[in-house]
Amino acid sequence: AEPASAPAPAPIVAPHAQGATGTQQRSISCVIPCFNEAANLRQLLPLLEETLWATGMRWEIIVVDDGSTDDTAAVAQAWCELTGFRCISLSRNFGKEAALSAGLAAAAGDAVVVLDGDLQHSPSLIRAMLDHWKAGAEVVYAVRQERSDESRLKQIGSRIFYRLLNASDRFAVPQDAGDFRLMDRRVVDALISLPERSRFMKGLYAWVGFRAVAMPYTPRPRAAGASSFNARRLFALAIDGLTAFTTWPLRMVSVVGLLFAVPALSYGVYVILDHLMFGNPVSGWSTIVVSLMFFIGVQMIFTGIVGEYVARIYEEVKGRPLYVVRRESGVGLEAQQP
Ligand code: UDP
Ligand code: MG
Repeated sequence: AEPASAPAPAPIVAPHAQGATGTQQRSISCVIPCFNEAANLRQLLPLLEETLWATGMRWEIIVVDDGSTDDTAAVAQAWCELTGFRCISLSRNFGKEAALSAGLAAAAGDAVVVLDGDLQHSPSLIRAMLDHWKAGAEVVYAVRQERSDESRLKQIGSRIFYRLLNASDRFAVPQDAGDFRLMDRRVVDALISLPERSRFMKGLYAWVGFRAVAMPYTPRPRAAGASSFNARRLFALAIDGLTAFTTWPLRMVSVVGLLFAVPALSYGVYVILDHLMFGNPVSGWSTIVVSLMFFIGVQMIFTGIVGEYVARIYEEVKGRPLYVVRRESGVGLEAQQP
């Protein structure tokens, strides 16, 4: 933020709000990761502002511009003239998970709502989320009821992915829950404190735990533009999620290896005995070639699986930051603090 050029913070907290009870009014942050959402932001930001004013809480809206190539940064920065709006521009496109991390790290509210910038996540649900939060929920996550807009292949792929992901853990990652959610300060702090570089957010949300309430909703179609998650990126995200939250594929490699090795050894013993005792010549050129090729194939697949994990270790060890900020502007909750 540039305090010198920023407009003077308006007194958001009414003077009487603090005095009587001695407790400060609670606040809410909204985090919106945006990659080329200029047209959508023009619609979303006024809508969101209205929703937040209506809550009567102190609020801030944080737009994370994830290296957009359109007017996203300009639109967001124009809104930053108003108190309560912040814009964090990343130096390039780091991906949604990194953009979310940047937004969460900047959010100062007692409750933090994460929502997409394409109007698929309707701000009108925030009211109900806040009600759950005030009633004691630490996480309120929206669960999509409808997936009919998605292709059959994507639905099947998604089901297989969650099966594999949840195969062996103490916590389950709910299938139809996305990033649209409200989190208590404690949850956000826990998320920020996680040191890993590979941030599969859906998994991390589940990992940190806390009392969560599911809220069904029907996502609306994207207002403008196209989704940035094609089949290839979804597949890459799935591999990220699996390697970050499971180790059973590694154990499977050992188990399958044993399953192959034990019969192979027994067969070897049989062939030797057969040759020594009955003088049968060692035969079967084609058997050798076929089994050799088969086992080489299996081994390469398994080396690949191990390699995926090794690559992740390499990523972690390098310890690069999750994202690089080019520019921050606007006056958020922190700057409004009396
Ligand atoms: N997004 C982002 N960085 C990216 C890709 C997407 O910040 O590299 C944002 C995007 O602007 C949107 C949200 O993540 O606000 C969800 O993206 P999208 O609508 O493309 O995904 P889908 O709704 O199809 O899952
Ligand atoms: Mg979308």
